[in-house]
Amino acid sequence: MKKWENNVRRVTPYVPGEQPRQKDVIKLNTNENPYPPSPMVAEALKNMTTDTMRKYPSVDAQPLTDEIAGFYGLKPGQVFVGVGSDDVLAMCFLTFFNSGKPILFPDITYSFYDVWAEVFRIPYECQKLDENFEICPEDYYQENGGVIFPNPNAPTGTLLPLEAVEDIIAHNQDVVVIVDEAYIDFGGTTALSLIEKYDNLLVVQTFSKSRSMAGMRIGYAMGNETLIRYLNDVKYSFNSYTMNEAALTLGTAAIRDRAYFEETSAKIIATRERTKEELRQLGFSFGDSKANFLFATHRTCPAKEIFEALKQAGIYVRYWNKPRISNYLRITIGTDEEMDRLFAFLREYLK
Ligand SMILES: *Cc1c(COP(=O)(O)O)cnc(C)c1O
Repeated sequence: MKKWENNVRRVTPYVPGEQPRQKDVIKLNTNENPYPPSPMVAEALKNMTTDTMRKYPSVDAQPLTDEIAGFYGLKPGQVFVGVGSDDVLAMCFLTFFNSGKPILFPDITYSFYDVWAEVFRIPYECQKLDENFEICPEDYYQENGGVIFPNPNAPTGTLLPLEAVEDIIAHNQDVVVIVDEAYIDFGGTTALSLIEKYDNLLVVQTFSKSRSMAGMRIGYAMGNETLIRYLNDVKYSFNSYTMNEAALTLGTAAIRDRAYFEETSAKIIATRERTKEELRQLGFSFGDSKANFLFATHRTCPAKEIFEALKQAGIYVRYWNKPRISNYLRITIGTDEEMDRLFAFLREYLK
């Protein structure tokens, strides 16, 4: 090892799901939305010229922050936007988790949390989900340096009722609590109604799932104006222009089309419920997912074998060889046609 390597900030990076190059795969491995973004986004894209690239983009991410604030009935000063919610969450870790006490999150959860904790040198403790893979609010009553959890949780898909979310926040009013609502639009109740009551609550959402724009990289945090100001101070100390002009314009168009967003979310929910029926009949079991994926285990066939067979057949799902979840597959909800092809394959394979 070279001497200079002692001074390297070493990290084990987050590993995203595969993005296969072939065109004909059924991609159910990264929770992307199978439907295109709103036609209003396509229209805005057509009207964009290269002049949008000549100048620096809006420093305060207008008009996107205004549009998001309007959609949720908030003030623009209550909204922070970033390059996907990954960027927003990383900024939140850097800004709010500085007490030296361990932050708390579930043992089975979004696998980026421990990576950010490691890269920013934030101590953390994982709280075990119960045997049904549910979060136990009492596990978050102990002294800590902050709390973060996804709701619905990932990759389990299960939803913590709003009363339980509030219970966690109520017991943690001396630290910042972040609720990562990447999947909330597929049947959950957002904790947004609580940001007036708790000035330490941040609700984080994304355009990547329910608004079909994972490739555009837009995420946002909503909370008390003081929290948002602190976040912006850190962001402006890093890079004033994280959001490019195209993302600001196209994101704004997506938010404006409420009807399309509601329609596509409802379609995914309907397909998810049908998928539950089909998979149950095929011998799978899973928690009651309120997200755009199911976290399923099979009665007899090992998950790893199914994962590999599916991949051979050009159907990509997600598998983790990790403690407690090594016999589970996370299956994204695609279109009805894509799911039918999945069921047809499994029907043959599991025979
Ligand atoms: C997908 C996801 C995110 C981040 O998505 P972005 O594409 O960065 O907005 C954050 N949290 C959870 C739990 C997710 O599943």
